Amino acid sequence: MKLKIHTQILIAIVLGLVTGIVLGEKAGELEIVGDLFIRLLKMIIVPLILASIVTGIISLGDTKKLGRIGLKTFLYYLTTTALAVILGLVLVNIIQPGKGVKLPTETTTDFSEREAPSIISILTDIIPENIFAAMAQSQVLSIIFFSILLGIAICSIGEKGKPLVNLFEAFNDVMLKITGWIMRLAPIGIFALMAHTIGTLGLSVLKPLAIYMITVVLGLLIHAVIVLPILLRIFGKYSPLKLIKDVFSAVTTAFSTASSAATLPITMECLQENTGVSKKITSFVLPLGATINMDGTALYEAVAAMFIAQVYGPAYGIHLGFSDQIIIVLTATLASIGAAAIPSAGLITLIIVLRAVNLPIEGIGMILAVDRILDMCRTAVNVWGDTCGTVIVAKLEQETLNN
Ligand code: ASP
Repeated sequence: MKLKIHTQILIAIVLGLVTGIVLGEKAGELEIVGDLFIRLLKMIIVPLILASIVTGIISLGDTKKLGRIGLKTFLYYLTTTALAVILGLVLVNIIQPGKGVKLPTETTTDFSEREAPSIISILTDIIPENIFAAMAQSQVLSIIFFSILLGIAICSIGEKGKPLVNLFEAFNDVMLKITGWIMRLAPIGIFALMAHTIGTLGLSVLKPLAIYMITVVLGLLIHAVIVLPILLRIFGKYSPLKLIKDVFSAVTTAFSTASSAATLPITMECLQENTGVSKKITSFVLPLGATINMDGTALYEAVAAMFIAQVYGPAYGIHLGFSDQIIIVLTATLASIGAAAIPSAGLITLIIVLRAVNLPIEGIGMILAVDRILDMCRTAVNVWGDTCGTVIVAKLEQETLNN
């Protein structure tokens, strides 16, 4: 009997958890298996983004439609990210996880020396100096920018562009075929990643930060289970339960890899196969979403910044009032847009938020130990947010969906 992919993945997660707990540090040896799975996914990202955006734009056929879809996509991404930050701030103010936590006497990192990208450089880097270098370094925003131009240019030369249209369409199908193969390995990859993470995680580090972690996870849950589903129902007219079934493989892969970018091929495959959203929409909305739409990261950054303020506040004379918290809403939204879709990226762009409200960067050292677990949770929410957004944009574009 062949088990459905969802069942296989669920079994993989449970087996991974148990193996991690039983084997402890020894489960670290499974790292190589998880690593191979992530490598396969990363291998496919750049050609997949290029092929899917170019074919998506060709099938849209006119730039007005692209502009309209782009506007709706941005609006959705910005609104939901800001909602997530506000939710995080409300919870962290109510729960006050930093109250009573002792100020660390030594910090474990040299984070103060690490530079977060500036907002200006994030924007200018969208235009690559060299597209091949951008591809070699997986700079997704630059690749998206170039692919959009390429698609529009191919459309604009009419008949002469036909060979390129055929080429990109065939190339895109081939990339999706490879993605399908990689997806079949997802249960093995997810099992190994779970076992390795749980096995090598020192459980003792979790205790002092338990309330902080609960605050982040509670916020992520409310956003994923209440806020986004309400939007999905109202604007997407789509059942949240059906959608979670449709994209289960993507959300669990996001959870285990902690990378929205690595998950992108699977997210694309799930949405195209199961929801009825057209390639036109997925090909554009999803790569953009994986790169700039990070509700989970934004929420986490807001909670983390306030947590650091609460812990360091008494000793440093810091109190973040209403206007500081408005600055957190703005900077956490921008910092999440600037965060790369890779593990721990949110921890680095958190520096942008801390600087904006004059909090000590060393505070990051304090939350570093529990970052991986929170990264897994926020990445799952990031990808879930992308999928809800794609369905909503498709519905607003009057597509007929399978719900
Ligand atoms: N790992 C997250 C992602 O790929 C980014 C982050 O660190 O928050 O979506």
